[in-house]
Amino acid sequence: AGKFFVGGNWKCNGTTESIKKLVEDLNSAQIEDDVDVVVAPPFLYISQVVGSLTDRIEVSAQNSWVGKGGAFTGEISADQLVDVGVKWVIQGHSERRHVIGESNSTVGKKSAYALSKGLGLIACVGELLEEREAGRTTDVVFEQLQAYADEISDWSKVVIAYEPVWAIGTGKVASPQQAQEVHSAIRSWLSDKISPEVSSATRIIYGGSVNGANSAELAKQEDIDGFLVGGASLKGPEFATICNAVT
Ligand code: 13P
Repeated sequence: AGKFFVGGNWKCNGTTESIKKLVEDLNSAQIEDDVDVVVAPPFLYISQVVGSLTDRIEVSAQNSWVGKGGAFTGEISADQLVDVGVKWVIQGHSERRHVIGESNSTVGKKSAYALSKGLGLIACVGELLEEREAGRTTDVVFEQLQAYADEISDWSKVVIAYEPVWAIGTGKVASPQQAQEVHSAIRSWLSDKISPEVSSATRIIYGGSVNGANSAELAKQEDIDGFLVGGASLKGPEFATICNAVT
């Protein structure tokens, strides 16, 4: 479905110096033409990255506020992201859901507001280990998808990121079969609940311990249309290898 899409989620990592080096590595990396590449620095470094990164790679935020700006201490609005040249935002990351406590409905509202301002959306979903072990993986993922669908009407700028929580930062990558099974279920859900057109056009990317060594096998799966990469996106050459995994 669509062009391969690889996002690098830098999370709360980096310094002015380390990010300068990472941007230099990305600027000199050989990345194939047939892949969309996006990186998501911490808010503080977004302007540095927008100002120094090649146009080949677009910049994403990792979160944004639920509506327009105002008296919301510590928050950043989608309008402000657009103002400084950001093109994408990640919403519903498991760390925001499970560490910071964002609910499905908050995630849905933030997503709709960001889309209304013209940002592309990387909409994350994924189950906890205990939910998988209880056989509830697709129930949980479908509930999260429904919360996006409750707020979103135009899916043309949405990329869905399936990130099983047990695979994030653990080195325990989902097997290609485990990932494909959930991606295929998400594709069917989109077809049933949204439309067959949205189902075939929407990129469904996988995240959770993706690295330069396991990305090629995952990329071969029919319904894996790219990756959302955490730790390995902090290393320019390895991230480039992942970007080129499909070729
Ligand atoms: P890791 O690649 O470090 O497991 O993180 C995945 C992730 O959460 C990307 O958003």
